[in-house]
Amino acid sequence: MSRLQVLLVAGTHGNEINAPWLFDQWSRNVDLVNTSSLEVIKIVGNPKALDLRERYLNRDLNRSFRSDLLGTAIGCDYEVERAKEIMALHGESGSSPCQIAIDFHSTTANMGSSLVIYGRRACDLAIASLIQFHLGLPVYLHEMDSSQTGFLVENWPCGLVVEIGPVAQNLLDIRIVQKTKLVLEACLQEVSKVLYGQAHFPPSLIVHRHIKSIDFPRDVDDIPIGCLHEEVQGNDWKPLKTGSPLFSSLTGYLEHLDEREEVVPVFINEAAYAEKKIAMSLTKREVLPVQENWKEELKQLVQN
Ligand SMILES: [Zn+2]
Repeated sequence: MSRLQVLLVAGTHGNEINAPWLFDQWSRNVDLVNTSSLEVIKIVGNPKALDLRERYLNRDLNRSFRSDLLGTAIGCDYEVERAKEIMALHGESGSSPCQIAIDFHSTTANMGSSLVIYGRRACDLAIASLIQFHLGLPVYLHEMDSSQTGFLVENWPCGLVVEIGPVAQNLLDIRIVQKTKLVLEACLQEVSKVLYGQAHFPPSLIVHRHIKSIDFPRDVDDIPIGCLHEEVQGNDWKPLKTGSPLFSSLTGYLEHLDEREEVVPVFINEAAYAEKKIAMSLTKREVLPVQENWKEELKQLVQN
């Protein structure tokens, strides 16, 4: 008998309300979501922020799972205490431990449904390949970004983020709820197949590897002097060639892409990233052959 429990998280950001609403509906009707017979634990990441419809109270919960913060004494920010609490309950050595964590977010960017993985852990790459094969979702591989660390799912042996968009913050949208449910069920179905030895891995995983994030051009007073160019706004995942226009204004300001190679923009004009001074992130498309050790590590984790 496998000990496997899958942690499902919604509302890690309190102004992303579609996944928490789905979870609430699911609590009232246990047959609403097909879990493919897996043991799942579903939680609201940041319940206080969700009550307030704010992204967070003191700091971004999804940047608070850093070892230096988790190791601090009591009395810190609410989100750091909440991160410790979630780890104590459902971390790998918690009181009700989970081995896999899936964190459901929404984005204001026109990205459709996508997966985000952090770094190149074998289990994450393996499960992403299965879900991508099942649903055809793009995968954003976030790595080598020292300015952004402490993501929730990195603290579980296997974890990924699901991003569904576009939807404004604090706006309930049935299309976003339906897509969240669809991806959630596909994720659980693929984990279940691994558990029962029925997983069929694709030959390769297509990722969009993070290169860098870029801010709006600003004047000395920190005011943006340009908006995203009309050919960029809303065109997430659409490749940009060298010299493509990036930012423009009504008074003739125009800035072009100075990357040497074609890049693929994501999280274009994501509302939540204004505070992080990110107008968009640039990625590069790469095809990674699915490795035997990815499959083996995922099977070990799920089946033991
Ligand atoms: Zn979020």
